[in-house]
Amino acid sequence: MSQRPRVVIVGAGFGGLAAAKALRHLDVDVTVVERTNYHLFQPLLYQVASGLLDPSEIAHPVRSCLRRVSNARVVMAEVRAVDLEARRVDTTAGALGYEHLVVATGSVTAGPGDPPSERQVLGLKHLEDALRLRAHLLACFEEAAHTTDAKARRRLCSVAVVGAGPTGVEYSGAVSELIRHVLPKDFPEIDFADSSVVLIEAGEEALAGFAPRLGRAAARSLRRKGVRLLLGQPVHGVSDCGVRLRGGSVEAATVVWTAGVRSTAASLLPADTLDRRGRVQVTSALCLPGHPEVFAIGDIAAAEERGPAAAMVAPVAIQGGQHVARVIEARLQGRPDPEFRYRDKGTMATIGRGSAVAQIGPVRLSGFVAWVLWLLVHLLYLVGFRSRTIALASWAWNFFFYDRPVRLIIDRPGDGG
Ligand SMILES: Cc1cc2nc3c(=O)[nH]c(=O)nc-3n(C[C@H](O)[C@H](O)[C@H](O)COP(=O)(O)OP(=O)(O)OC[C@H]3O[C@@H](n4cnc5c(N)ncnc54)[C@H](O)[C@@H]3O)c2cc1C
Repeated sequence: MSQRPRVVIVGAGFGGLAAAKALRHLDVDVTVVERTNYHLFQPLLYQVASGLLDPSEIAHPVRSCLRRVSNARVVMAEVRAVDLEARRVDTTAGALGYEHLVVATGSVTAGPGDPPSERQVLGLKHLEDALRLRAHLLACFEEAAHTTDAKARRRLCSVAVVGAGPTGVEYSGAVSELIRHVLPKDFPEIDFADSSVVLIEAGEEALAGFAPRLGRAAARSLRRKGVRLLLGQPVHGVSDCGVRLRGGSVEAATVVWTAGVRSTAASLLPADTLDRRGRVQVTSALCLPGHPEVFAIGDIAAAEERGPAAAMVAPVAIQGGQHVARVIEARLQGRPDPEFRYRDKGTMATIGRGSAVAQIGPVRLSGFVAWVLWLLVHLLYLVGFRSRTIALASWAWNFFFYDRPVRLIIDRPGDGG
């Protein structure tokens, strides 16, 4: 049996993977437990949903991500429970004991249970969501092509996106370009004046987390791309016809919910470790109070007062994962735990082809320059040379020819397998 300390990492998202890689030089045995067999680059999920990229360009097998990390092994399994006292995790592939545990299970789409929904709306969080959304949208246009009822055709050709945060803004821009520039070449029988993309936001501005100037720039860019923005409009319900608002409704066969995510911590960690939003209240070393051997990082972890360090974004998760390795190293050397210090490198959001907004410290950028920056940053962070090359080729193809290569309906909604 191994004498080295055992580190179990739950989740191979941004946080878990960063922790496993950062632990490669330490004298520990690392086990990464991930329920899928891939690491997903969620920031480009909307590009799969809008037919620009294929899943294999944004998802990479965990085993190949960790191929060069000789002290790590991968277990494809779901963690069902954590026994903090016994220092054991129960997984669908058996139990695992640990000396250090890193919980990095991320978040899931929040809502739309509130407001009530009479139909299943589509989220955009997992790879399956993006594929389902793409298939659903394309199937709606296929149906619209042979529908004689004008009202039904308008509904089939309309998309309502709820939530004007980065995901809602990015998907709306991309799907509007797909509908205005790409699909008309395939569907001569449809009058695209019938189609619409409506972005609905309860707050008064798009991209609330960004500087107001950038939110306004994003709104202008979206309108130029044909997106109708409804600001200050809380959703009262979702039905078969579309979205109900205070003073009316938006008819749409495709309703996409991007109005928030919630932490998955509650399914594994005790309620008294969570704040009112279900995120783990971690110490300055990113541990559970009273359980220094248990770390919580990424979307599941927060300390309200920490500002940008509490944001549910990839850099917070990555830097959290790297910090875990620093703490474990310090403990192995008998030093006190270092404190987590987040380095905010800025945020950005793209609004379709050739337009983005970015804020990096005091610098605010919008338009084409921000888009080029967005493109370079995402190429840098995408895993693997092949993915980068294909993504770059797809972006260039779309930029010059306004074409989306990935428009196959493979998993038809309602097929049931
Ligand atoms: C559509 C979209 C766009 C985004 N765009 C951006 C962006 O542009 N920039 C940015 O910085 N951030 C963006 N984010 C947020 C960013 O992706 C998250 O903040 C980040 O992924 C959080 O990392 P994490 O490690 O906490 O969780 P994740 O990356 O979500 O990883 C969690 C992992 O845990 C696994 N898992 C969950 N439960 C279990 C279990 N019980 N057992 C085993 N495995 C489990 C999951 O399968 C998953 O692989 C976006 C998110 C979405 C959904």
